[in-house]
Amino acid sequence: MGTFVTHLEAAIDGTRLPKDQLLTMHQDRPLWVRYDLEAVRQAASPEQWSRREATMWRYDELLPVPRPQERVSLGEGITPLLPCPRLGRELGLEQLWVKDESHLPTGSFKSRGQAMAISMARHFGVQRVAIPTAGNAGGAMAAYAARAGMEAWVFMPEDTPQVNVAEAVLAGARVFLVRGVITDCGRLVRQGMEPMQWFDVSTLKEPYRLEGKKTMGLELAEQFQWQLPDVILYPTGGGTGLIGMWKAFQELRALGFLRSQRMPRMVAVQSAGCAPVVRAFERGERFAEPFPNPHTVASGIRVPAAVGDFMMLDVLRESQGTAVAVPDEEILLWTARATAAEGISFCPEAGACVAALKHLVDRGWIGREEQVVVFNTAGSQKYGHLVPLDQLPRLDPDQQVDWDRLAEA
Ligand SMILES: *Cc1c(COP(=O)(O)O)cnc(C)c1O
Repeated sequence: MGTFVTHLEAAIDGTRLPKDQLLTMHQDRPLWVRYDLEAVRQAASPEQWSRREATMWRYDELLPVPRPQERVSLGEGITPLLPCPRLGRELGLEQLWVKDESHLPTGSFKSRGQAMAISMARHFGVQRVAIPTAGNAGGAMAAYAARAGMEAWVFMPEDTPQVNVAEAVLAGARVFLVRGVITDCGRLVRQGMEPMQWFDVSTLKEPYRLEGKKTMGLELAEQFQWQLPDVILYPTGGGTGLIGMWKAFQELRALGFLRSQRMPRMVAVQSAGCAPVVRAFERGERFAEPFPNPHTVASGIRVPAAVGDFMMLDVLRESQGTAVAVPDEEILLWTARATAAEGISFCPEAGACVAALKHLVDRGWIGREEQVVVFNTAGSQKYGHLVPLDQLPRLDPDQQVDWDRLAEA
């Protein structure tokens, strides 16, 4: 079977572009993949999707990869939507869920986007790919490039979590540690494009990663029986998750596949140490200024400037959502509290969302009976460096243990 893609569309001005070339951007801004939704409606249905294998590929008619044999996959299963009554009670909410993306290959939701981008790059004959990354995207890209038999070049800030560096190295990528942040890495990838002839799979600089991230929204809709929740909190960096989910909801609505027309309020969460989208949202701006001296423990959202900034801001405004910045101390506190409350493998980026949720409930922006979903975009295993282990008590098995004293400590 072919695809239902009709064309690509420039997000900045609606220019129509052909689908049969590997295009990147238009006026240095991202492209949308557009589908013949009328034909999709004839060919697919929610019931049919639900009967297929439980992977992100079940929504085939809304995806750009022409044939199943062309998928570059590591088994991207539908991720669990976990009710969180204990954490909900702590925050004052009756209906809280976590969509747990830590179950995906390479331990983060980045695999959705990379599976799609690498499949399409291979479809168009690409043999060498490059990426600037804050961490997880580089690990995922290296893994999918390996799976596709492609050469991968990964550029990471030198203070990227060691796990991310190691996973890219282990997958056989050429890995470079850059003295700077992700935008500096991006500059290097652009410089190398001409001499190195690689294809740049940066966030939103090619149109297909977004289509992969879109499956988060499709899955969520299906898990809520095609009736979307009231509020979605998403840790926002480059913005593909936020924008991709919103695109999924719009497409489902246009298809008539939703049981209610009510759309969720989308909340972008960032660290106070790197909050370009929050600042632009609060100032009512169309684009976000680069955030100076970006720093945060939530490395996945350390993105001081994004080419899709206006698309994120559009999502927040169209959905009547909001943007919240939380300090790193609160991020660490709520990552630990949420993990201890529910046993879910929370990354600090999701911890930021829980911290933001606390503020929004306290402020009354979210009502206690509303349905709320937090996205856990990666697993805690990647963030061992944030856990203070040197204060743990050490025991000598040859010495008598004072259990009473230990119990009190
Ligand atoms: C990349 C990343 C994000 C930000 O995702 P975007 O969709 O690019 O905004 C959030 N959390 C984690 C763990 C990430 O790796």
